[in-house]
Amino acid sequence: MSSNHVDGHPFFRFCRTALEDIRAQGRYRQFTPLARQAERYPLYDQPETVATPSTPACARDREVVVWSSNDYLGMGVEPVVVEAAIQAIHEHGAGAGGTRNIAGTSPLHTAIEAELADLHGKEAGLLFVSGYVSNQATLQTILSSMPGWICFSDRLNHASMIAGIKGARGSSTVIFEHNDLADLEAKLAAAPKDAPKLIAFESVYSMDGDISDIAGTCALARKYGAMTYLDEVHAVGLYGEQGGGVSQRDGVADQVDIIEGTLAKGFGVHGGYITATSNIVEYLRLSASGFIFTTSLPPAVVAAALASVKQVRKDGWRRERMFERVNTFRDKLRKAGIPFTMTPSHIVPIPVCDAQRCRELSDRLLSDYNIYATPINYPTVPRGTERLRLTPGPFHTDAMMDEMVTALSHLLRLNDLTEQPVPAMA
Ligand code: PMP
Repeated sequence: MSSNHVDGHPFFRFCRTALEDIRAQGRYRQFTPLARQAERYPLYDQPETVATPSTPACARDREVVVWSSNDYLGMGVEPVVVEAAIQAIHEHGAGAGGTRNIAGTSPLHTAIEAELADLHGKEAGLLFVSGYVSNQATLQTILSSMPGWICFSDRLNHASMIAGIKGARGSSTVIFEHNDLADLEAKLAAAPKDAPKLIAFESVYSMDGDISDIAGTCALARKYGAMTYLDEVHAVGLYGEQGGGVSQRDGVADQVDIIEGTLAKGFGVHGGYITATSNIVEYLRLSASGFIFTTSLPPAVVAAALASVKQVRKDGWRRERMFERVNTFRDKLRKAGIPFTMTPSHIVPIPVCDAQRCRELSDRLLSDYNIYATPINYPTVPRGTERLRLTPGPFHTDAMMDEMVTALSHLLRLNDLTEQPVPAMA
C-alpha cells in the first residue's frame, strides 16, 4: 500500500533506486525466520548431558542446524533462564510499566545492576535497553560532558560506539589503526596534554575474531592520562574465570575505567550495560538520554538475564565446552582443507570475498543441507572481505560438524570459491 503523497515524494524514488543498487551489489538482505525449538533442548545443567544434543530451529518448515547464533552458549533456551522469565511474567506482568525513573524500575533491575558490577569488580552497573544503546548513550553523554574531550577510537569499533562518538557535542575524534598500539601511542602523544582523553575499543572484534591488548592499551592510557572504555559484548559469558570477559581473563578489569557488555550474546537474553565507578554510573544514570527517556526492559527479560548471568558465572564447564567444540571444528576444517581464518577467539570466519558468492553459499547450505549460516557482507565488513561467520557452540555435535564440513567441501568446490583470495588462513 502506498499513498499518492508518498509516491510523489522524492524520497520514494530515492528508496527505489537505493534498493535497486543494493540488489545489484548482491547485498540485499532477506530475513530467514528461524523458530527456535527451546523445548527440544536437553536439560543441560549436567555437563555430561551436553554430549548429544542438537541445535534445532525451524526455517521454511524444515529443521535446520544454526551455525551463526550469537547466543554463544545457548543460554537463551536454558531451562533455568526460560523458567525465570516465565515466573517473572506471572509475578510482574509483561511490561515494565515505565521508564526507569517513572515506575519502570523493579527489584530485578537493581539486582542485575549489582550482579554485573560484581562480575566485573566495579562499584556500580547501569542497565540499558540494548548493548547498542549502552554504547551510544554512554559515549555520547561522556563526550558531551566537558569541553575539549578527545576520543581515540579503534578503526574497527562497532557502529553503536561510532554513533555515540559522532553524536557527541564539542568533542573531537582521533581514529587509531585497528589493534595498533604504536599508532595509538603516536596519536596520544601528539594530542594536547591537558585535553580530557578517552580510548574506546573492544576486546573481541566480532567479524574478524581478533582480540585487543587490553593491558597494553590501559598502560598507554595511564601514561597519557586517558580514560578507557571497553566493549566486551562478544566476550562476556565466554572469557574469564566467571565469564567477566577478556579483561577478567587477562586480570586487568581493574585497569579499565568503563566496561560495557550485552546480555544478548553469551548470556543469551537481551539488554546492555556498563559497569564503572559509582560516580560515573550515577552521572550517566542522571544524564544519559538513551537511559532516561525510554521504557525500561520488561521484568521477564531482566529476570531471565539475571538467572543467566548467575548460572554462567558458576558454570566454567560451559566455557570449556564451547572452546573444545571450536577447536574440534577447526581441526575438522583443517583436515578437510577448507580455508578458514584462524583467530584467537571463538569465532570461525570462512572467507568468501564476494557478496554474491557468499549469499549463494549461504542459500545452498540452507536449501541443500538444512544448515543456517548467515552471509556477512558490506557494510558489516569491507567489500571484498565477505565471509561466513561461524560460531560453534556447546550444542554442535561431531556429527553436525561433519555434516557442515561435507557441505562446505562440496559447495566451495562447486562454486570454485576456494580460488578466491583468502586472508590470514590457518
Ligand atoms: N557492540 C558490539 C561489538 C556488537 O557486535 C553489538 C551487536 N552486534 C553491540 C555492541 C550491540 O549489542 P546488542 O545486540 O545488545 O544491542
